[in-house]
Amino acid sequence: MLITLVVPCYNEEEALPLFYAEAARVAAQMEKSHGAAFEFVFVDDGSADGTLPVLRALHAQDARVRYVSFSRNFGKEAAIYAGLQAARGDYVATLDADLQDPPALLPQMLDALQNEGYDCAATRRTTRRGEPPLRSWFARRFYRIINRMSDTEIVDGARDYRLMRRRMVDAVLQMAEYNRFSKGIFSWVGFKTKWFDYENVERVAGQTKWSFWGLFRYSIEGIVGFSTAPLIIAAGAGVAFCLAAFVGIVFVVVRALLFGDPTSGWPSMVCIMLLCSGVQLFCLGIVGEYLAKTYLEVKHRPVYLTRETEQDL
Ligand code: UDP
Ligand code: MG
Repeated sequence: MLITLVVPCYNEEEALPLFYAEAARVAAQMEKSHGAAFEFVFVDDGSADGTLPVLRALHAQDARVRYVSFSRNFGKEAAIYAGLQAARGDYVATLDADLQDPPALLPQMLDALQNEGYDCAATRRTTRRGEPPLRSWFARRFYRIINRMSDTEIVDGARDYRLMRRRMVDAVLQMAEYNRFSKGIFSWVGFKTKWFDYENVERVAGQTKWSFWGLFRYSIEGIVGFSTAPLIIAAGAGVAFCLAAFVGIVFVVVRALLFGDPTSGWPSMVCIMLLCSGVQLFCLGIVGEYLAKTYLEVKHRPVYLTRETEQDL
């Protein structure tokens, strides 16, 4: 039985040695307790620091360590996809390099898969301790909104830390879309998932790669990727405005017939025009967002490009 750990790394030279030490410790423990062999697949997502040399050194020191290094930064989603493609294990776990996803949970997660018949053990954090309050607030709003709009359930606080059986990994790999939103993809493929709760842990070293703006764009990606409800909302807004306009026309005509037509109402006219054209542009923007995603998708660009793997050494 082989377990692959897939670890996306972007500028993680400081965190990697700490991660490797902890993962190797858990691996040694699980080799005894579960008879599991391990493989580590690190994906260097175009790091600008010493991440790649650290990975080369780790491979030289431990043959279980494999890596894929991208030609540039393609993002965490692409890194996870590349790692899943490279993984050879019967079980595959995805986890962050900063130890925010504690490898020490793996034995429990494997037990759920082996003894309780689950296909996937996933984790979610119960607290957002250590996170800026404004960010937490927006995060919670995002989950409320996307779950209303999408048929695919996106679990609040779910991390990308999960252990999957091979059949689920193969299912995820079949989803070769370019715009990857893994929280949605993992949920969309289904399979029996057991959730593990744990408290938020802060990263051991280095800096978070997510800016507020980056997270905002990511959330739009998630909504556009897993819901077409905004298009219906846009159409609904169009219908509502048409009805309002119709009522308005009737009102204006009747008033003109009854009371004549003194030329007034300039300011209100300007307000109405501004509002209507604003709503039109907003709806056009929503349509444009879907069109843009479709455009990127039909180009069939590769999700990532590899510059080096451990086999090149
Ligand atoms: N990461 C990546 N590519 C990116 C950004 C992040 O591979 O473009 C990796 C990063 O190295 C880490 C994981 O994704 O292992 C999570 O990133 P981070 O800890 O910065 O996110 P946070 O935990 O703050 O949400
Ligand atoms: Mg982190």
